[in-house]
Amino acid sequence: MKFCSNCLNPISSKDKRAIALIQKEYQKDNNPWFLGYSGGKDSSALLTLVFNALLEIQNHHKNVTVIYCDTGVEIPTISSYVKDTIKSLETEAKDLRLPLKFNIVKPKLDDRYFVKVIGRGYPPPTNIFRWCTDRLRINPVKGIINPNENSVVLLGVRMGESTERDKTIKRHNTNSKYYLNQGSSTKTKIFSPVVNYSLKDIWSTLKYNAFPYSIDHSLIGQIYKDAGSECPVYKETKGTPCGKGRFGCWTCTVVRKDKSVESMIANGHDNLDELFKFRNWLVEFRDNPKYRSTVRRNGTPGLGPITLKGREIILDKLLYAQKQSRLDLIEEQEINRIHELWTIDINSDKYVEA
Ligand code: SF4
Repeated sequence: MKFCSNCLNPISSKDKRAIALIQKEYQKDNNPWFLGYSGGKDSSALLTLVFNALLEIQNHHKNVTVIYCDTGVEIPTISSYVKDTIKSLETEAKDLRLPLKFNIVKPKLDDRYFVKVIGRGYPPPTNIFRWCTDRLRINPVKGIINPNENSVVLLGVRMGESTERDKTIKRHNTNSKYYLNQGSSTKTKIFSPVVNYSLKDIWSTLKYNAFPYSIDHSLIGQIYKDAGSECPVYKETKGTPCGKGRFGCWTCTVVRKDKSVESMIANGHDNLDELFKFRNWLVEFRDNPKYRSTVRRNGTPGLGPITLKGREIILDKLLYAQKQSRLDLIEEQEINRIHELWTIDINSDKYVEA
C-alpha cells in the first residue's frame, strides 16, 4: 500500500503541468489512446499521471487502453508483480469510474522465444542477430493498434535515460517536444508527457501521488534495487535497448552477463537460480558449431539453424530447470508446436541436420 505522502508533500509543479497537458490532449479529439505499460518505473509514473488526469475530468469521452506485453519469458517474479498490479488497477479504476481498460497481449505462438529457438533452431539472440525485440515485445503491442486509424500511444520515454534512447527520441522528433513520430505509421503518434522528467522526478511522481493505490512505489523501488533497468515496449529495435542491467526476458543472451537475475538471486530470489544457470549454459551452447547445421535456411552454405539434436538438448535442459525451479517456464502449446516444427524439418529435403 502506498504511503500517503502527498498529505505532507504536495505533488510537484512538474506533475501538475504534466497532468494538465494530459487532460488537454485527452479532451482534444476522439483518437483512441493506448498506454504501453511494463510495470517499470517510467511507465508506472506515466500511468500515475494519466490516472490522476482522468480523475479530475468529468466527461470521459474515450477509453485509455493500458497494454502489457507478456512475452512468456519475463522474469517470473517481476511478471507476477505486474499481473497482480494490473488486477488491482482494474478494480481501482472501475471503482472510480475511470475509462481505463487493461489488455495483456502475448506474442503469436510461432514468435514465442522457445518456439523460435527450440522449434525452429534460431540461435538465441545476439546484438548482431537480435530477432527478439520485434517479435516478443513490439509486434504484440502494435497488433492491437490499427495503423490506418489516427491513434496515440502514450509511452514513458525520457531524455537522458540512455544515449541510445536519446538518439531514438531525437530521430523521431516532431514540432511538439512531447510528441514523437512512430516510424512505420503516419497515423500513430507517440505522446510522452514525461519526456523531460529526470530519474528523481519519476520517483517523486510515484511516491507523492496518492492515486492509484495499486502502484506501490516501495515495491517498484525494491524490484529496481533487486534487478536493474527495463526493456522497452515499443520501438527501438536496434542498439542495446535493454540497458546493461535489465528488466526484460530472463533468457536474454544479448547481454553477456545477466545482471538483473544475478542481482535478484543475491537479494534472496533463490528460485531464479536454475533460470540463471540455464541462460548462462545457453550462451555457451549457442556458440558451439557442433550443434549448428552447415546449411542456412535459404540453402546457402554457412552457419545454419541449431540442429534437431541441439534443440532436443535445449528442451531437456529447460524442462529440467522448470522442474527444479517449480516455475512455469514453457507452455504446453509451445511444446506441442515445437514437436510439430521438428517433424516439418525431419520431413523436409531442404533441412540439413549437420
Ligand atoms: S530482453 Fe533481451 S531477449 Fe528479451 S526482447 Fe530484450 S533484447 Fe530480446
